[in-house]
Amino acid sequence: MFQSPQAWVPAESRARIEEIARTHLGEGDPTAGDHGPETSAATPMAAVVDRIEDLVAASDRLHDEETFNLNPASNVLNPRAAALLSSGTGSRTSLGYPGDKYEMGLEHIEQIEVITAELAARLFHASFAEVRVPSGAMANLYAFMATCAPGDTIIASPATIGGHVTHHAAGAAGLYGLRTVDAPVDVAAYSYDLDALAALAREVRPRLITMGGSLNLFEHPVAKVREIADEVGAHLLFDAAHVCGMIAGKQWANPLDEGAHLMSMSTYKSLGGPTHGLLLSNDAALSERIDAIAFPGLTANFDVSAVAALGVTLADWIETGEDYAARMRACAAVLARSLAEAGVQPFECERGFTDSHQFGLLAAPFGGGTTAARVLERAGFLTSGIGLPVPEIPGDQNGIRIGTPEIVRRGMEVADMPRLASLIARALTAGGDSGAKSAGDAEAGVAGTAGTPAEATLDEIAAEVSAWRREFTEVRFTA
Ligand SMILES: *Cc1c(COP(=O)(O)O)cnc(C)c1O
Repeated sequence: MFQSPQAWVPAESRARIEEIARTHLGEGDPTAGDHGPETSAATPMAAVVDRIEDLVAASDRLHDEETFNLNPASNVLNPRAAALLSSGTGSRTSLGYPGDKYEMGLEHIEQIEVITAELAARLFHASFAEVRVPSGAMANLYAFMATCAPGDTIIASPATIGGHVTHHAAGAAGLYGLRTVDAPVDVAAYSYDLDALAALAREVRPRLITMGGSLNLFEHPVAKVREIADEVGAHLLFDAAHVCGMIAGKQWANPLDEGAHLMSMSTYKSLGGPTHGLLLSNDAALSERIDAIAFPGLTANFDVSAVAALGVTLADWIETGEDYAARMRACAAVLARSLAEAGVQPFECERGFTDSHQFGLLAAPFGGGTTAARVLERAGFLTSGIGLPVPEIPGDQNGIRIGTPEIVRRGMEVADMPRLASLIARALTAGGDSGAKSAGDAEAGVAGTAGTPAEATLDEIAAEVSAWRREFTEVRFTA
């Protein structure tokens, strides 16, 4: 290995890092010869390049042929957008206003920048769109910098209703010096307790209140929270990293229309674009600050290929987004109901399971969310754990997050949901049978050992999933 051991990294991950380094790059012994794991510093770099290409191809096979991606935090790109991501613009410069770029040769690039910003403003009904934002986390940091000073207090969603780390101490908010106070939660509504929020806001006098998170089941009371923000002189940020697809596809009201001062998002989740960020506003003063934060603040040159791919993504949404979002939402509703009928209980509040493209499953019967997600991966389903407002599971998440953005973009329909649900339910039950039932039994995470009935069942399901998966070769909802 060439790096020193990272003492602060958990032992399990350190071992994995070492294993990867040794497998691909050898032991660090320059005399050891030419190929294979023991060849180290003498490993020809051409072989390393082959390895990287092989790993990318294997990852693509996993996602494009062998599994259904039920993780709403990732999606598949329009192939034309994907092609632009690998275009030459990705290594070109871009800094400065259109018409006044600092370097020469950027007259096409500045047009891409303007087209994408215009499409973003049109799709999201915003007066101002900032596309020079590398990620959703950075979009939130820009929003914090535009509205708050270090030392200020903000109110944000706790993790039990999908609150994201970027709004909290360990994330962008904390790193920028903000103090985050958790918003009071009304579990039955899977939302804020508005009376308690108003009282809290009067007490802590936040500069910013944030809404939106990594699991969104029902529309958020944006207009009511804006009233509370106005009363205490705070701004309101809506984090649409996950729910931007429901907004773009007009399934949910647009938080900017409802009074949010700022709306941030990731563009690779329900939007199905490149790994990038976007920040929107109707407020000129905030937008002027954000412009200066984007440049010369936190970026110099931005990734033009990502902005070009985002432009294609936004054009797709303007043309086909309402149908795409409606189908994501309809499929999520039927999948949640079918899972419940198959004995796998979704998190339920007074409004039901979900009114969006995503929902949560109660993980306790399966040993925890991450434990269950590992079982599901064995069976050919990609998911993840998530926090839910239900009793905690020591050492694991108490929920499993399921979403429909990718399966729908690949062409799945409502009629496919019962079969999908029965395969998921079979896999979870098989995993549970292998001993992963006890909440404290973290070791039971990976279902069974080779040759157990659980293992055989998961293999059988994985084979059926893979065969079914191969029927979905297209990417739908393109302009
Ligand atoms: C994913 C996510 C982010 C961070 O987005 P990145 O683009 O991954 O940096 C921010 N907020 C919420 C609610 C998220 O789910």
